[in-house]
Amino acid sequence: MTTVDGSCEAEHEALLSFMYMSPIGIIRSGLNGDVDMLNPVAVQLLMPVAGRMGIGNVFDSLTNVAPELRNLVSSFSAERGRVCEGHRIVIAPSADRPTVLSCNIVKANSSTLMMTLSDISRQVDAERRARQHESWLAGIYTSVNDFTFFTLDSAGRIDSWNGSVEQLTGFRADEVLGHTLDLFYAPETVDPYCSPEHISLTREEGWHVQERWCESKQGRRYAAQILIAVLREDNGEIAGYSVVIRDVSERKISSDELTRLLTTDHLTGAVNRAHFFKLAEKELARTRRLGKPLSFVMIDADHFKRINDTAGHQTGDLVLTKIVQGAKASLRSIDVMARLGGEEFCLMLPGTSREEALVIAERVRATIADAEIDTGTGEIRVTVSAGIASVTEATSCVNDLLAAADKALYAAKTAGRNCVKLG
Ligand code: GH3
Ligand code: MG
Ligand code: MG
Repeated sequence: MTTVDGSCEAEHEALLSFMYMSPIGIIRSGLNGDVDMLNPVAVQLLMPVAGRMGIGNVFDSLTNVAPELRNLVSSFSAERGRVCEGHRIVIAPSADRPTVLSCNIVKANSSTLMMTLSDISRQVDAERRARQHESWLAGIYTSVNDFTFFTLDSAGRIDSWNGSVEQLTGFRADEVLGHTLDLFYAPETVDPYCSPEHISLTREEGWHVQERWCESKQGRRYAAQILIAVLREDNGEIAGYSVVIRDVSERKISSDELTRLLTTDHLTGAVNRAHFFKLAEKELARTRRLGKPLSFVMIDADHFKRINDTAGHQTGDLVLTKIVQGAKASLRSIDVMARLGGEEFCLMLPGTSREEALVIAERVRATIADAEIDTGTGEIRVTVSAGIASVTEATSCVNDLLAAADKALYAAKTAGRNCVKLG
């Protein structure tokens, strides 16, 4: 290159030293690719790919890996401007970690091209790893069927869907979006309060875990552990919730057996006294929190001593199990029937008012009175008396409710038995 005067020479020196120091390859060439200037990094990058072609012409040097460059330039008709930006040249694409060059070409004027080349292999490798990471996550979401992850809006309605939702629950996006979590619960376990309640507990604590029975669209029941966590905006407002539902059926089945042994009465299968008190405390607290009704029905077999005395203790036992079976047939799955002792039982009816409890208790009484119990040596009948108590402002604990229901039961006994009285 020729220089016209000293200042131009100084500028040229500065350019050369800039090019020399540059961490990226810089090449100046004619429009036909004949190189007239290039820096050490450019030499380093071009030499391995140029091979026998040499580095006298940049298009020739790169012809094996980027034959398109010559065309890109020749079809660029403007007098000056950017011919390509970030154009990727992959060297040895079949290699495990191919070298990738990023190429920029600027047409400086009608006879000069400036080209930069940089090795972006590491960046590409990082991108590849990021993509692998994404597909790995997508794999978790879609191919593992024992858990699903999605989000709810601030009103608790499902607002995102992915393959894992369908895998676990069987529901497609259009069947899920806009619904509450109730959609996934086993139908008989759903009451109007459960979904809002989980959301309000999550709001209070920031997150909430519960285990419950769920049912897929195809009717497959599974024990699910449901984790809900609050998602917040930058300003702290609740933006929505994230939900993870795990199928824990396997674990649940083994622990269920133990739970059953600890919580039920072995003769009748009703909830035992100790467990009933735990459930009742919890239900009373829930009732208060949600401001909904709760009723207890105390039930006692009539003249049960006579049955034992005339038909034998074993028949008495059979009658007790039939009382429980008869009552349970008229109850919802969220209702609890407990054996408090001997031939005394208590029904706990969540979300049920006095009047509704009266209807249910009357139905239970009639079902038991109508049943003919086959003892093997003949048929016998049994009747029960029942007393109802519902939560009021004055109710302070579970024992208050039980005492009130007991009083009503006593009234039913004195009224002649086989009847129901309100407390
Ligand atoms: P009432 O109509 O006033 O309730 O009369 P009742 O005979 O049912 O009442 P009482 O309390 O006098 O008798 C209850 C009987 O229940 C006495 C007891 O032997 C019997 N009993 C308690 N537990 C069991 C049990 O597990 N199996 C059997 N077969 N009988 C039991
Ligand atoms: Mg009795
Ligand atoms: Mg009794």
